[in-house]
Amino acid sequence: VTPKRLVVIGGVAGGMSAAAKAKRQNPALLVTVFERGAYISYGACGLPYAVSGVVPELDSLIARTPAAMRERGVDVRVHHEVTEVDHDGRYVRGRNLETGEAFCAPYDALVLATGTLPVCPQVPGTALPGVHVMRRLEDAAALREAIASGAKRAVVIGGGYIGLETVEAFVTAGLSVRVLERQPGLLLPFGPKPSALALEEVAARAEVMLGTELLGFEGRGRLEGVATSAGTFPAEVALVAVGVRPNNALAKALGLRLGPAEAVLTDAQLRTDRDGVFAVGDLTAAHHRVTQKPAWLPLGDTANRQGRVAGTVIGGGDARFRGVVGTAITKVFERALATTGLTRAEAQRHGFDAQETHIVTTDRARYYPGHRPLHVTLVWERPSGRLLGGQLVGYGNAVKRVDVLAALLFSGGTLQDLADLDFAYAPPFSNVWDPLAVAANVALG
Ligand SMILES: Cc1cc2nc3c(=O)[nH]c(=O)nc-3n(C[C@H](O)[C@H](O)[C@H](O)COP(=O)(O)OP(=O)(O)OC[C@H]3O[C@@H](n4cnc5c(N)ncnc54)[C@H](O)[C@@H]3O)c2cc1C
Repeated sequence: VTPKRLVVIGGVAGGMSAAAKAKRQNPALLVTVFERGAYISYGACGLPYAVSGVVPELDSLIARTPAAMRERGVDVRVHHEVTEVDHDGRYVRGRNLETGEAFCAPYDALVLATGTLPVCPQVPGTALPGVHVMRRLEDAAALREAIASGAKRAVVIGGGYIGLETVEAFVTAGLSVRVLERQPGLLLPFGPKPSALALEEVAARAEVMLGTELLGFEGRGRLEGVATSAGTFPAEVALVAVGVRPNNALAKALGLRLGPAEAVLTDAQLRTDRDGVFAVGDLTAAHHRVTQKPAWLPLGDTANRQGRVAGTVIGGGDARFRGVVGTAITKVFERALATTGLTRAEAQRHGFDAQETHIVTTDRARYYPGHRPLHVTLVWERPSGRLLGGQLVGYGNAVKRVDVLAALLFSGGTLQDLADLDFAYAPPFSNVWDPLAVAANVALG
């Protein structure tokens, strides 16, 4: 039965894609989106660049406003928090956070797109003014404000990609920065080589403290210092970027089946195990095509694609979300780092007989001006030669070659497939042997 009323909880990447697509698919569908924040449909991925000033206007990160969505027939309510889902009665309840008024809305189909919550370290002082997270548009606005009002010293807690993109933002904005990471390396999920090169890049511009624990935030009335296992450091700004977790309170209350990291499990049409309830985006675990298991890899492009599939299905069309292979890319100062599939250590954890081949070459012809080093790591299975993953570190768009690997991983390709590909070549773009083909041929021996 085609639903008549769709309610979407969460109005950013996954939720808004689902709402917009469902309405286009079935214009008769009544679509309501509840978003507890002040904004919808914004590019959270651009927040660090709005903090550095590389993106001058914070508002330019907003793709659509509630008014623009209403024109398309999607009823968007911002400052509306859903606090309860009564699935037997098929309605949601909540509160308007501006007026305090309660609301109640019926549905036939429900999309949960509640995203993630930042992990909050259990240490004293996290509520002090000057201690920030980087999650929403308002967080970037607060950091811009802190920099504009004269903050000079920052401590970033967490050496993942959001932490490091923010380190770059702070340094670009002229702050002196210290990075705290409890693990022995930065950006460890990208694998050992990218981790080492990211460290080189950051250490040239900021104080990096590996293996260091956060003990608390200190100050009278506002942040003055960050206490760590290696001493206390003065700072006007601290950014806590120690990870996120699925925002699954409503999903848990509904009793939905959960997978890795307590993310919601769905089928390929983004249906949960409760009839009429869909889940998309960072809240969900996705089918990983290399391991053939569910994996929790919260990323914006995945959320958008999942939203589109759920919207199509709810609108009466046919679509499938065919899974992920774990592709990600980030920029740390001058260097670009990308990963897809599994690192060797991950592959071994999943029981593969995994081998690794690493090469360093150049991203364009050696005689062509401006050529830069490009590191390529391939992870592959023995004896089949099946590709399991790869990591690239270089400069600029050269590392977008990771998408070639991602395409092969998506379809179960081998080292031989990679070596045989018809790559594009001209000296300003590549070598006559593309770096990926070189790596594949080295691995093949
Ligand atoms: C600084 C930063 C940089 C990033 N960079 C990248 C990148 O380069 N590439 C990439 O792929 N991804 C990146 N991401 C991740 C990407 O932003 C997320 O994967 C994406 O936003 C997930 O979309 P979502 O719709 O699942 O969840 P979210 O964007 O988290 O949206 C969920 C929304 O639900 C709302 N909500 C939650 N509970 C309720 C409730 N009960 N009632 C009403 N509303 C509710 C929240 O207010 C929130 O607005 C980055 C994220 C950050 C923070």
